[in-house]
Amino acid sequence: MTSNNSENIVRKVAILGSTGSIGTQTLDIIEEYPSKFKATLLTARNNSSLLIEQAKKFRPTRVVIANEDRYHEVKEALSPLNIIVECGHQAICDAVMANDIDIVVTAMVGYSGLKPTISAIKAGKDIALSNKETLVVAGALITKLAEENNINIYPVDSEHSAIYQCLVGEHTQDISKLILTASGGPFRTWSKSQMKDITVAQALNHPNWNMGAKVTIDSASMMNKGFEIMEARWLFGIEANRIEVAVHPQSIVHSMVEFVDGSVKAQLGLPDMHLPIRYALGCPQSRLKSDNKKLTIADYSNLTFESPDMERFPMLKLAYDAINAGGNLPCALNAANEVAVTSFLLEKIKFVQMPILVEKAISFTKYISEPSYIDYVNTNDEIRRRTEELLSSM
Ligand code: MG
Repeated sequence: MTSNNSENIVRKVAILGSTGSIGTQTLDIIEEYPSKFKATLLTARNNSSLLIEQAKKFRPTRVVIANEDRYHEVKEALSPLNIIVECGHQAICDAVMANDIDIVVTAMVGYSGLKPTISAIKAGKDIALSNKETLVVAGALITKLAEENNINIYPVDSEHSAIYQCLVGEHTQDISKLILTASGGPFRTWSKSQMKDITVAQALNHPNWNMGAKVTIDSASMMNKGFEIMEARWLFGIEANRIEVAVHPQSIVHSMVEFVDGSVKAQLGLPDMHLPIRYALGCPQSRLKSDNKKLTIADYSNLTFESPDMERFPMLKLAYDAINAGGNLPCALNAANEVAVTSFLLEKIKFVQMPILVEKAISFTKYISEPSYIDYVNTNDEIRRRTEELLSSM
């Protein structure tokens, strides 16, 4: 055990996507520990009113609204305060490099998180990674950059936080496999015929976790678990064939690690995203004491585990295929999936049409085994365009 001698240092936190589910929960933690953390940068895509409210309360140095149409509203509302207001995606990439930032919480949605994350890493900032698509799209590039710039990536995703915690004090060569748990989502027990008429409201109604719309739909289709295999592969340097998925509907065991001696470590807790956020922000110094509701193990007399069903959840199969193919295939998969999820949320396609659309779209991928940043950008643009085209003919 190490003692904590950094108690008086305030950690300066940038939150990309401060108005979303992870962003607001991160601000809960900052509010909970005012002597340990200070929010210095807040960014949002569209939600100007909440961004204004947060800025008034937390008084960051700077805020950025990505949607340029909302700039004047934010600027005007914050003009009496000494807060810099900027707009647009490039402003976010520039803002993360500021001197008054120690750690960047990447809680943006989807592909949009990639560029600012690269910018933050190059500026030497530690990352609390919530935006898993960054590693799905460009895991090889991001991990290489993190190593070159000597920064740490602390996972915010609950499964990866669990694995990270299980690996404290362990050696990589002693790991035999990672076991990612999955709740199975709202349709875990539904038959194929029942799944034909899934509504948006049903898909957004996750049984255990309170999350944003994109990740909730990905959880319902199990694409989220496919993405998490990729995320784990890059975070922990373990090949995908040693990463297993166990469906665990109670979401109490957040993931596990099996070691070469046959011993298995697990991390448990209530399904509450404050837990992994708190751990990531406290890393690597100490755990943050909390009075939040804790797990009463006797309330859970029936923790169950089962194998995932790839026939009813073909997105998981597509994810495994993309992992095995490697190169720019995961990037293509992510692009097609983002278009598919948006289309489902807008009720343009049915839930069961998402994997059909995604599979067709990624067949257009021009395979590149070792993509550069520009290759990722081009793959993303091309496959989005292909998916939109396919969509209009569906
Ligand atoms: Mg997760």
